[in-house]
Amino acid sequence: MILKGKTALITGSTSGIGAACATALAAEGAAVMINGFGDADAIAAQCAALSALSGAKAMHHGADLTDTDQIAAMMETCVRELGAPDILMNNAGIQHVCPVDEFPIEKWRQMQAIMVDAPFMLMRACLPHMKAKGWGRIVSTASAHASVASPNKSSYIAAKHAVLGLTRGVAMEVATKGITVNCISPGYVWTPLVENQIPDTMKTRGMSYDEVINDVLLAAIPQKKFVMPEQIGAMLLFLCRDEASAITGANLAVDGGWTTH
Ligand code: NAD
Repeated sequence: MILKGKTALITGSTSGIGAACATALAAEGAAVMINGFGDADAIAAQCAALSALSGAKAMHHGADLTDTDQIAAMMETCVRELGAPDILMNNAGIQHVCPVDEFPIEKWRQMQAIMVDAPFMLMRACLPHMKAKGWGRIVSTASAHASVASPNKSSYIAAKHAVLGLTRGVAMEVATKGITVNCISPGYVWTPLVENQIPDTMKTRGMSYDEVINDVLLAAIPQKKFVMPEQIGAMLLFLCRDEASAITGANLAVDGGWTTH
């Protein structure tokens, strides 16, 4: 088990990609703090399943990442209960599909808070601990939308470009400290985030379910299939290995060839 004795904090890990990433790290012995919303019984079962993988602790903190005080409380709890994070994954994210001239201002602010401000605050809080240990891994889930654009997703595209910029900047600052800072950029991964945007796209484009899948979501994907959450977990785990210590400031595409030009 390569992560025995290490602690990971993964935001947005009660569902989809984050849940698969928590499983990947827990299976290698990491203590894991998961975060996100959901049914209390389901979350308790997820924590029990994670800790059964290696015997290391797994716990949940329900911090709403739009709230700075709740982010600070989550960090404090993690340090106290599991130890300071050696691995931080900024993964939580939401989507809202709407033309920019009708985009609700509050929705814009919520998206930037979850996908840009929270990663900044958590990196800021974790780095002193990682510097003291001389080892750390910071991975943020960006997106193919950190490099390409699609209509009606302006806030999401802006947020994902921003988190990639943040990653590159911070990677330069800590390059000699044993800490790597990277983005994983998935294409379309089959999770609730993607499933939930299908009805809106059907409505705004007047399309059937199958047309949205094939003519919108998979249209630009050379492999013509969705990425699976476990494939992102596998990439995260690789970045945590000592063999990946030379990879920093990178944007690693796991997108079925979408952003290959
Ligand atoms: P998901 O909807 O399955 O999971 C999102 C997670 O974020 C959940 O745990 C949810 O509770 C949590 N969350 C949402 N708002 C939150 C808040 N205010 N505070 C704390 N937690 C909050 O989505 P997913 O598809 O697994 O997406 C995970 C990440 O991957 C996101 O950043 C997303 O932008 C990115 N991504 C997803 C895809 C895809 O196709 N699914 C593609 C590229 C990038």
